[in-house]
Amino acid sequence: MTEQTPKNKILAIGAHAADMELTAGMTMAKYIRAGGAGAFLHLTPGERGHPTKSADEYREQKRDEAARAAAALGARMQMFDYRDGELPYNDEVAFRVADVIRAEKPDIIVTHWKHSMHKDHARTYQIVQDAVFYAALRTIERPLPRHGIRSIYYADNWEDQQDYVPDVVVAIDPESFEAWRQCCSAYQLFRGGVSNFRYREYYEALATTRGCVAFTQRANAFKLWEEQQVRGGEWLPIPRS
Ligand SMILES: [Zn+2]
Repeated sequence: MTEQTPKNKILAIGAHAADMELTAGMTMAKYIRAGGAGAFLHLTPGERGHPTKSADEYREQKRDEAARAAAALGARMQMFDYRDGELPYNDEVAFRVADVIRAEKPDIIVTHWKHSMHKDHARTYQIVQDAVFYAALRTIERPLPRHGIRSIYYADNWEDQQDYVPDVVVAIDPESFEAWRQCCSAYQLFRGGVSNFRYREYYEALATTRGCVAFTQRANAFKLWEEQQVRGGEWLPIPRS
């Protein structure tokens, strides 16, 4: 396959604060612990889901939670201020995301799969596809120089399951799992009391389920960038069992 190294940097781009921590946080924890690096970009705070708080109140809470979640992993974090449920799909957003890609210079991007029950998630997929293109083109002049990405992975999100068949599972060691739990515990959404969906139980059980098919205790699953399904190399790749 391609080179596998823990020294890589992951940029996880999610529609709402918490999406990427929940789905890619274990893998990011593993990379950071092994000498790599991680950053989160949340396109909206995800401020509209609270049962009792106003969007303004919950936005402030999500900002604080996102900062603490990233700090728990030792990852960088930034958040755009588009409104939850109203994330636009246009070139303004795509260029802003491209600028973040050029600034963070990740080796790997993780984002949402294209099919989702949440419109912000599906739009994030489209925005990231465009942003990766804009970030890579030298002749698109922005404040920072071009940065090309060869690896986009789509995260295993409960809301993005339509036609989602993972291609890759990454084994998660107990320390990285614990770091992920600490990270996600920054969110009330994860601890309970915000949503009827059982986030904590779902993502803990999913790690175990994906771990079973990877013949390991726990794992994170990802789907490959469609354009990267065909891979070149000197020899036929033999995946590790
Ligand atoms: Zn979301």
